[in-house]
Amino acid sequence: MGRLDGKIALVTGASRGIGREIALELAREGAKVALNYQSSDARAQEVADEIAKLGAACLIAKADVAHPQEARAMVKRVVEHFGRLDILVNNAGITRDKSIRKMTDEDWLEVVQTNLNAVFFCTSAAIPVMIEQKYGRIINLSSMNGQTSAFGQANYGASKGGIIAFTKTAALELAKFNITVNAICPGFTMTDMLSKVPENIQDQFKAKIPLGRFGTPEDMAKAVTFLVEGGDYITGQQINIRKSAVACGSMVRLFFCRSFFALRAKNDRQKKKSV
Ligand code: NAP
Repeated sequence: MGRLDGKIALVTGASRGIGREIALELAREGAKVALNYQSSDARAQEVADEIAKLGAACLIAKADVAHPQEARAMVKRVVEHFGRLDILVNNAGITRDKSIRKMTDEDWLEVVQTNLNAVFFCTSAAIPVMIEQKYGRIINLSSMNGQTSAFGQANYGASKGGIIAFTKTAALELAKFNITVNAICPGFTMTDMLSKVPENIQDQFKAKIPLGRFGTPEDMAKAVTFLVEGGDYITGQQINIRKSAVACGSMVRLFFCRSFFALRAKNDRQKKKSV
């Protein structure tokens, strides 16, 4: 028995990288999975074959999610095929990195349309059935670079920051239907997207990561499964999955909070004894 037996999931951008691993992880946990992608037919088929080996049902749902009609028709096809939709992972994303001085309108529009507007197209198409079911888990792939500055990524950063804002509003509007909406903000993750960055620059990034390695698609997939399976009371959040100084800061705060509460409990016990 998997933890997600009976659940139906749609993962956009599932032919490669993070989306691929999320689709496989959801299937390992027993979900039936629809795989969306844009053009990598052979790679999508490989993911479908792996899912079939796991004994899980799978639907290949090719569509350009940046195109509103195609995106909506694709979600409709998935709902018609499986009869419901429990999990939507808005993962498809692209980069067109350039400084603002060199960035064309096309570079800007393509990235915002694929990374941000598509999240609206797929989410708005998916929520009617989720509202009817009184259940839905929506996870949007944002990025560390939607929270902080990155040279050459004005278009990408704006799209990923927009996802965080969208996630918070969607969470607020959909909570009453038992639909949670969260964003995952990966740091640098070993995929085709990162491999476009020159190796010497990659080394500079890595040198700043306390654990000395980039994230893996598996690291991101585990977070998605957790939000789906164990995150019933988590919504409107941006979950940072990275080993950065920020994460270390959070750990330090957590340590101090725990120490503070432990000390307070000890004092309370001593007071009770002395009464
Ligand atoms: P990737 O390896 O480049 O894979 C991108 C996926 O998106 C592919 O499956 C691709 O399909 C699909 N896709 C692109 N445009 C599409 C469109 N218009 N319609 C449908 N599918 C489309 O990317 P990744 O690194 O796994 O990134 C996945 C997500 O995580 C993205 O949103 C990215 O911004 C985010 N992220 C990545 C990193 C990182 O360091 N890798 C860090 C932070 C956030 P085809 O194969 O058919 O082209």
